[in-house]
Amino acid sequence: NVRVRFAPSPTGPLHIGGVRTALFNYLFAKKHNGTFILRIEDTDQTRYVANAEQYIIDALNWCNIPFDEGPDKNEKFGPYRQSERKQIYKQYSDKLIEKEKAYYCFDTPEELNFHRKDHEEKGKTFIYNWHNREKLTNSISLSKEEVQQRIANGDKYVVRFKMHDPTKDTLDTISTTDIIRGQVSFKTALLDDKILFKSDGMPTYHLANIVDDHLMEISHVIRGEEWLPSLPLHIALYKAFDWEMPEFAHLPLILKPVGKGKLSKRDGDKLGFPVFPLKYINETTGDISRGYKEDGYFADAFINMLALLGWNPGTEQEIFTLEELCNTFSLDRVSKSGAKFNPDKTKWFNQQYMMKKPDAELAELFTVILQEKGISSKKDYVKKVISLIKERATFITDFWDLSSFFFEAPTVYDEKAIRKNWKEGTSDLMEQLISILETIRNFNSQNIETNVKDWITSKEIGFGKVMQPLRLCLVGAMKGPHLFDIAEMIGKKETILRINNAID
Ligand code: GLU
Repeated sequence: NVRVRFAPSPTGPLHIGGVRTALFNYLFAKKHNGTFILRIEDTDQTRYVANAEQYIIDALNWCNIPFDEGPDKNEKFGPYRQSERKQIYKQYSDKLIEKEKAYYCFDTPEELNFHRKDHEEKGKTFIYNWHNREKLTNSISLSKEEVQQRIANGDKYVVRFKMHDPTKDTLDTISTTDIIRGQVSFKTALLDDKILFKSDGMPTYHLANIVDDHLMEISHVIRGEEWLPSLPLHIALYKAFDWEMPEFAHLPLILKPVGKGKLSKRDGDKLGFPVFPLKYINETTGDISRGYKEDGYFADAFINMLALLGWNPGTEQEIFTLEELCNTFSLDRVSKSGAKFNPDKTKWFNQQYMMKKPDAELAELFTVILQEKGISSKKDYVKKVISLIKERATFITDFWDLSSFFFEAPTVYDEKAIRKNWKEGTSDLMEQLISILETIRNFNSQNIETNVKDWITSKEIGFGKVMQPLRLCLVGAMKGPHLFDIAEMIGKKETILRINNAID
């Protein structure tokens, strides 16, 4: 019974690394007829951002990878917000103290600073671990009575995990098999005693995460590589509780397109591509960060690109529907090494999807943009326009530039093109052209072309002398699809009107 979770901390917008983690969890769940769970890890109240949870949910919905269980949805194992599970964690922290796997620490920040400085002066780094436990103020160095007294007094304390215990012949090395990385081992003596529970009554990430994965019956933990250093503690916690462990899979980092290191928001800002699925406005600074959705990316193209960041199907195939991904995905084919993000390839995916999408679907999206510009056009007309221009578009947002002349007459004309193509006698030729156009009954592309070309040939004018200025008249620049297609689309009256406008 596969149960996986995406467990973001709502500290800001979801970065594509986070979406990739969500996606791989989703694909793994669907492949195995399992359940994909969203859990909001909001125990660190100092880093809490009000709208982040909604942003995460909106982003997953836009990507079309909705969760099966989560906040306000199929709450079988709920609640799914850790802040609403507060009362659960303390009993588990108490249990570990009872088992002597964890202990109270009363050290003040000043004391800890003193130790840090003291170590530094000796050229060492202070670690709260088995070496130092007895020198510090905690339930190992203090008497039972004193500990009780301090707690009764309301002294601030934290609970730390006893990572390494030299007095007992326990775990020296912790190891497990990560699905992606294979065997991983850690020496416990080198690790610190992490805080599990804080004096504000809140657990830390580690305790809450393990308790919830256990209670929510998570079978596989699939998460970013940055959590690998936490793995020994997590394994040790499962052992301390005597709980069965889920399987672990740590996904490779997503690397910046140029240079070394992890992809960050700054790379996106610098190189002009989004790193967030949806636009994000930082409420405190007012900063706006671009989103794939608003930049005109299709959710399915974005997801297709993301699926191949760290995973490969073992074949040459690159274009996958979500359903195909659900069927082909496997953790065995996720690589250990970092995956370089490629913004150009991301655009390429969008273009591929653009060509595949039905004109009617694109027309609907374009209509929204047209309406914003105050243009209302029949859906069939918009559909036809799209069929003429979509080969040249990467984004829906390119449509307007490629097609504005189908909806409104040009108001400015490209200067350079005028100089090059509007010669003496051109106005005269255009007048003559109008009289030819006026005679055409059935004003379709084919007919217009035949009539105009016959006239040009009989007059021995030279095609360029007519066609280039005509394009200027209709489009305002030397761009756009087949000229007679444009004329047919805008109609006889409008075609003649635009030529007249240009002559003036
Ligand atoms: N809350 C952690 C995060 O923000 C979860 C890590 C995990 O999946 O264990 O990514």
